[in-house]
Amino acid sequence: MEHPLHIYNTSSRKKEPFIPIHSPLVGMYVCGPTVYGDPHLGHARPAITFDILFRYLKHVGYKVRYVRNITDVGHLEHDADHGEDKIAKKARLEQLEPMEVVQYYLNRYHQAMDALNVLPPSIEPHASGHIIEQIAMVKAILTNGYAYESEGSVYFDVEKYNKDYHYGKLSGRHIEEMLNTTRVLDGQEEKRNSVDFALWKKAAPEHIMHWPSPWSEGFPGWHLECSAMGKKYLGETFDIHGGGMDLIFPHHECEIAQSVAAAGKEAVRYWMHNNMITINGQKMGKSLGNFITLEELFSGKHALLKKAYSPMTIRFFILQAQYRSTLDFSNEALQASEKGLERIWEASGNISKIPASSSSSVDVKSLRKHCYDALNDDLNTPVAISYLFDAVKHINAALAGQVTLSSEDIQELQSVFQLFLIDILGLKDEVKDENAACASFSKAVDMLLQMRLQAKQNKDWATSDKIRDELTALGFEIKDTKDGFEWRLNK
Ligand code: ZN
Repeated sequence: MEHPLHIYNTSSRKKEPFIPIHSPLVGMYVCGPTVYGDPHLGHARPAITFDILFRYLKHVGYKVRYVRNITDVGHLEHDADHGEDKIAKKARLEQLEPMEVVQYYLNRYHQAMDALNVLPPSIEPHASGHIIEQIAMVKAILTNGYAYESEGSVYFDVEKYNKDYHYGKLSGRHIEEMLNTTRVLDGQEEKRNSVDFALWKKAAPEHIMHWPSPWSEGFPGWHLECSAMGKKYLGETFDIHGGGMDLIFPHHECEIAQSVAAAGKEAVRYWMHNNMITINGQKMGKSLGNFITLEELFSGKHALLKKAYSPMTIRFFILQAQYRSTLDFSNEALQASEKGLERIWEASGNISKIPASSSSSVDVKSLRKHCYDALNDDLNTPVAISYLFDAVKHINAALAGQVTLSSEDIQELQSVFQLFLIDILGLKDEVKDENAACASFSKAVDMLLQMRLQAKQNKDWATSDKIRDELTALGFEIKDTKDGFEWRLNK
């Protein structure tokens, strides 16, 4: 490959050249949302980070199978083993079927992702649709001796596993430390050890989501779904597994342990984790009053927001930080991003107005390579964007007559913007799109009213009345004038 991509592997703690197992096929798994509430800022960053990776891998010539799961069962309130199922709780409070809750919030998640121009994954499997695969994995882990049954539940035997392998490999934690810091068993516990985690939980009588299994009527532990679905769709070993840094422990640590315990080897070659988002320097949390949904951001309806921010402003803002660094949301920072993006679109719209000279007095040819180098360096989007801002400077200087550009370089600028800004960074010019949509809409109404005018001239009153009545019913106000017609849409 001409442009070698390097990615930071959380597992080896260093940047490594990306070499797929079955090139040109790339298998990529990203932990998706637990769908029991409106999509929020915390959902936007992993979705956008791995969307860039998905787009970029495809651009450099790979065929990518991107799996992003939907957690619709087994994600409990407190940890892997305790509390009510988050979706079942919402269903109980709202008197809905759990799957109604799932569908409602999944639709809203998809709408928000569409608005952010996040491409849909290749496969979006639901945990509840893969109970058989999860039970098969529990059986394999039991057979290999790394799990035990207790009171109808099955737990992963972390201590036993740690004797043969290393539990804590991904997060850098040590089992001794974990044993010291975790809760003391209260005697009521079914677990042998406080660090053990549930693979299968027997359902309490009030638990509404449950399935039959060899051990009990129950449900799978949260960590299990990703191991089981990753294996089903991407094979026993696959290239990339991603998610937020908050998932490294315990979720991804447990995923590694499950795959190794079931198959004797690790499933994932490259672990990638995006950093978290803070709001005005604070961690986002419902109790802190700084929990902002994407809909609130897009509409500006939240006490912390001075105005509405468009989906592309949010996307651009997220891409202005490398995915492994923290990112702090504030009105000031968002407004700076909004202005920056406006400058880029304005310049990109002006490229065609640059007068071509016989030669260029600035270096345009290296931009493409710089952008590739930035992305190949662990998806360093802020550096790629800084080169696009260099291009903006050249464009504005050329328009002001301060520098010259050859027609070849003018074309190169067009091509660089199309490739990096639109195709790979996935940004779209919302103002231009909206204007274009409005213009088409107006043209269509004009066309209908022109047809009505023609019908009147032909004394075809039936057609003329039908067009007027139907447009009026849709809320249009139509006025006949001596030159033809005027219209407006009453909202
Ligand atoms: Zn997961």
